[in-house]
Amino acid sequence: MARLLVYYHAKFLSYFRRAWEWCFLVSSLAPGAAARFLDELKAIVGEEYVYYHPEDLLVYEYDGSIDRGLPGAVVLPISTDEVRRVMALCYREGVPVVGRGSGTGLSGGAIAPPGGVQISFSRMDRILEVDTENRTATVEPGVINLDLDNHVHKFGYRYAPDPSSQKACSLGGNIAENSGGPHCLAYGCTTNHVLGMEVVLEDGSVVNLGGTARETPGYDLRGVFTGSEGTFGIATCITVRLLPLPEAVKTFMGVFPDVDSACTAVSAVIGHGIVPAALEMIDALSIRAVQNVMDLGYPEDAGAVLLIELEGLQEEVEEIGIEVEAALWESGPTLVRTAEEASDRERLWAGRKGALGALGSLAPNYYLVDGVAPRTKLTEVLREVAAISERYSIPIANVFHAGDGNLHPCLLFDERQPGALETIIEAGAEVMKVCIDAGGALTGEHGVGLEKKELMPLVYTDEDMDAMRRVRDSFAPHNRLNPGKIFPDGTHYHPPARRPEPGLSI
Ligand SMILES: Cc1cc2nc3c(=O)[nH]c(=O)nc-3n(C[C@H](O)[C@H](O)[C@H](O)COP(=O)(O)OP(=O)(O)OC[C@H]3O[C@@H](n4cnc5c(N)ncnc54)[C@H](O)[C@@H]3O)c2cc1C
Repeated sequence: MARLLVYYHAKFLSYFRRAWEWCFLVSSLAPGAAARFLDELKAIVGEEYVYYHPEDLLVYEYDGSIDRGLPGAVVLPISTDEVRRVMALCYREGVPVVGRGSGTGLSGGAIAPPGGVQISFSRMDRILEVDTENRTATVEPGVINLDLDNHVHKFGYRYAPDPSSQKACSLGGNIAENSGGPHCLAYGCTTNHVLGMEVVLEDGSVVNLGGTARETPGYDLRGVFTGSEGTFGIATCITVRLLPLPEAVKTFMGVFPDVDSACTAVSAVIGHGIVPAALEMIDALSIRAVQNVMDLGYPEDAGAVLLIELEGLQEEVEEIGIEVEAALWESGPTLVRTAEEASDRERLWAGRKGALGALGSLAPNYYLVDGVAPRTKLTEVLREVAAISERYSIPIANVFHAGDGNLHPCLLFDERQPGALETIIEAGAEVMKVCIDAGGALTGEHGVGLEKKELMPLVYTDEDMDAMRRVRDSFAPHNRLNPGKIFPDGTHYHPPARRPEPGLSI
């Protein structure tokens, strides 16, 4: 009986797949132009590196956010020349293009516009050069952040920006989003570490922005490009600066009975004039999620935990460490402990950096709101977030870069429940408004993308946004690169109701 069921189940799936494939091919290829277009793409990158069957496209329809959109096709080039030719072809045919790194983005940035081509950089993942004398590294855009960092450790260097997704996210994605990370409190975000890049523009022309030196003459187009969310051009080669590894590292864990006292401790540390390398907060719900997955040494009865890391010369770290401990004890912790051993530190950071993934042990979905609040208003803002959680009956876990006020309230939900997504979006917008009203910002590091574009008028006037559009137009006058992102236009890609139809726009 069981075998029979398996047999009919497989049969049903195969009929369903064929029917779906047929519908898709008719919608995308029937006009003939699309078939010729796909042939031209195959001639550029090779047949096996052009995907257009629905089952192949499915994994490219989402990133880490809540939006969805099937690309018309995905191409996987291996060189700048292939990217250039793909871009020129799409430009000629009027097909929109979006770059895709690892798809870990949290604002829908890599989701293809309807009928668009997604250029995936998973084959352009080589570290081209490490120049230890000039402390730079030159990489292809698909290089994974942590792979670069680990690679340069061999030479006594590090690549400082360390998004919590660093095991998976790419340098190309980091540049497009100007990504931050726990250690960006002291070292600055991606823009402070990118020196130059080779960029393919929408018409297929290739330009170089910045260079290999700290300062370059003329406009700082490297700076303008960093954080442009894939709307200006496609970065095909990137030069970043490296920092020497610190002589000493010390990590403190402050355990607090509640979020309020942990927020007070954040102000106390900064108020002592200390700028730690990292200052992160994890609340009770996030601790529960982390400990559910693996015992990483977080106290399960804590209301909130602060992780504070100091780096520098041995003596300096010891001296400032005494001040950090004193500042923490001023705010009523139940425990302050030091992780002296590298293995202990690694366990604590594994918990912090794995916290978002661990939320899966509490709910099938999370919606992460990337608002920023002034550090001095953390307590009030987090109280408001707690009130929103109660009002909407939505559990909210907080795990965030406390030192620079970059909140990450994660609204937990189950996408399969009718109406759940709509409620989450409404509650998320309320969290954003609380941040803005407190004098904060819409996004700290994840970009605007699809997710926050309709909220842009909360912070910018029409004139402000026009100025931004004019800058974009000077790079991409036809707006063929990642269109539909950043600026409000009333369209959403939330599943399932408004999901765009599959097929190429040709
Ligand atoms: C668990 C988790 C933790 C995270 N933690 C952090 C964090 O601490 N800090 C942080 O800032 N972010 C964090 N993020 C968000 C995300 O990882 C970053 O935004 C990251 O930079 C995205 O990189 P990616 O390679 O996945 O890019 P994708 O998601 O593939 O793309 C992001 C954007 O980059 C564009 N793009 C990609 N490659 C190129 C290219 N070569 N040229 C031009 N544009 C390109 C895409 O078009 C898109 O607009 C986290 C995400 C997750 C899932």
